[in-house]
Amino acid sequence: MRKYLIAGNWKMNTTADTAAKLATDIADGLVASPKSEGVEVALFPPFTNIPAVAPVCRATKLAMGAQNCSHEPYGAYTGEISVEMVEAIGCRYVLIGHSERRQIYRENNEWLLAKIKLAVASTVTPILCIGETLEQRQTNRTWQTLQDQLDLIFTAIPASQTSRIVIAYEPVWAIGTGVAATPEEAQEAHAFIRGHLEYRGVEQSLHQRSMILYGGSVNAENAQLLLQQADIDGALIGGASLKAESFLRVVYEASELTKS
Ligand code: PEP
Repeated sequence: MRKYLIAGNWKMNTTADTAAKLATDIADGLVASPKSEGVEVALFPPFTNIPAVAPVCRATKLAMGAQNCSHEPYGAYTGEISVEMVEAIGCRYVLIGHSERRQIYRENNEWLLAKIKLAVASTVTPILCIGETLEQRQTNRTWQTLQDQLDLIFTAIPASQTSRIVIAYEPVWAIGTGVAATPEEAQEAHAFIRGHLEYRGVEQSLHQRSMILYGGSVNAENAQLLLQQADIDGALIGGASLKAESFLRVVYEASELTKS
């Protein structure tokens, strides 16, 4: 049976109280509906709200993730949070290389690679975010951009350690804009990514199929067609994950597809 991962990236939204309420509403929706079978659901609250969300996740099937981690394991890095801390507080996932981190905080390739290395050495599963800007797409540099972003990681880390890495294809022009990639555009990019992972020896057989999520203005209306695509294994959702109802509708769409 096909398994989907639906991840909600809350970014810099919620306080401890509203985070606990949102997590509880999502958990209640999952418990109340048998439709959520076959789907892994993960919530990515801001760091300070993880302790408020953790008990809800522990009591249910929800997984928890962190939105970022430091490129260093520990030490004098004021304001940073290490992979070890993320692991200790119960996160199953960590986002690495989100376009907002790359663009606003100028995270460089060296840091991204260091973060992935720390994550693969821990029990936390890294979700590596990649994607082209509008300018790169319009100047026919989408494939080169994706290939470079993948090669940075997959040429530096042995294939034996990379099978756990989840990829999130997030075209930068689709994040937070309300303009999602069409299902065809997204599938084309996912097939390219999967082909490149095969070429790099990461994906050698059906048993080793890498998880490739789509992210960028996913909502309850467009989720079904996106998730139906052969190489889309789930969604990373920003805006639509901040309301339990819209997030749950995406989860239910995924669940319906696991049965088809
Ligand atoms: C994201 O930030 O990862 C994202 C996909 O945001 P949105 O769904 O709001 O486009």
